[in-house]
Amino acid sequence: MSGPRSRTVAVHAGERLKTSRSHPLSEPVYLSAVAYCDDAESLDAALEGGDYVYTRIRGQNAELLEEAVAALEGTEACAAFSTGMAALRAVFDAQGLKAGDTVVTASDGYGVTRALFKSLCAERGVRLEAIAFAAPDAPVRIRGAAPQLVVAESITNPLLAVPDIPALAEATHAGGGLLAVDATFASPMVQQACALGADYAVQSTTKWINGHSDAMGGTVAGAAHRIQGMKNARVLQGAILGPFEAWLTLRGLRTLPVRMAAHCENALLLAQRLAASPLLERVLYPGLPSHPDYAVARRVLQNGFGGMLAFEIKDAERAQAFSFLEQVKIAKAAPSLGDVATLVMHPVTAAARRMTAAERESAGIRENLIRVSVGLEDVDDLAEDLLGAVARAMESGR
Ligand SMILES: *Cc1c(COP(=O)(O)O)cnc(C)c1O
Repeated sequence: MSGPRSRTVAVHAGERLKTSRSHPLSEPVYLSAVAYCDDAESLDAALEGGDYVYTRIRGQNAELLEEAVAALEGTEACAAFSTGMAALRAVFDAQGLKAGDTVVTASDGYGVTRALFKSLCAERGVRLEAIAFAAPDAPVRIRGAAPQLVVAESITNPLLAVPDIPALAEATHAGGGLLAVDATFASPMVQQACALGADYAVQSTTKWINGHSDAMGGTVAGAAHRIQGMKNARVLQGAILGPFEAWLTLRGLRTLPVRMAAHCENALLLAQRLAASPLLERVLYPGLPSHPDYAVARRVLQNGFGGMLAFEIKDAERAQAFSFLEQVKIAKAAPSLGDVATLVMHPVTAAARRMTAAERESAGIRENLIRVSVGLEDVDDLAEDLLGAVARAMESGR
């Protein structure tokens, strides 16, 4: 009797590792989207979520990342999604909101988040209120609205306001609602939102957690019973984090504590250097005593002040801001943050692009504003690069 024929061999040869007693130091990427079981009972249990058999139901790499993010966030559980936006949408969906309910979101936050909630709330007849969470009256306004869901940000984008999360949590819980904090700008190293009273800590892992701009992803961390509901919904909705993205993200997460410490140190030094320049109007960094939320930041940013800063070029319009983006040599003009490299951006035409002019105006996001995600380069080189580019941009604009 001959063995299997070549087509069968091609399909089945090399499909199972011989057992080994060694353990890979780096978990492999489980690219197999499907697994099989030797007995039907195991397959039955796997389809119920008891084992890995189909990556949309459970994936090894995503689960390892979830375990690590939950550990960093100090929460019982975490669910990973394909992007940060999918994670935010999952938080919304998990509330089962109905017509007449209220959601409160940031008026000075990430523009895409506001646009998402605007459309989701309109679809369902949910009332959406946008407020500046770092404003002194924010807790009072939350109590007045008695919302089912409040979605705040750890450090707002792009003006880097720092809301008092424990105060927001108290006000939200007073009306029976839940507080989600998009802590992407802080990362779990700088703020563990759930330890401060939030019910959900959301991350766009695309940013600091990955740290190398090579994979998109999002996570929601919180209590096990809430996260389990989101994972059940994820099986149906399908916005899972793929194995390679999860693997890359976990690889990035391994160095998050040392990277964040260095990003925070660089950002503070750079902010001090920029603040001393006569070419700039406002330098915004939560770690500068001149920042309006400095006192709150010292309380709610638990470990450094983050890697984001922003500044306004004195007497500049859009033309000079655009010229600045072209004049930098080390920094890159890119619409993201959290990379090992320094990234600069013009918020009016990037993150705040989907805001109306009136929304931008009331949020205080002006044409001469530049946002910086401070990288791991030498801080002297960065100061020279940014200030040199400002000088050249002003020169060219005359
Ligand atoms: C980037 C970002 C998001 C969206 O994350 P994606 O991974 O791009 O979907 C949400 N919130 C904040 C604060 C962000 O910076």
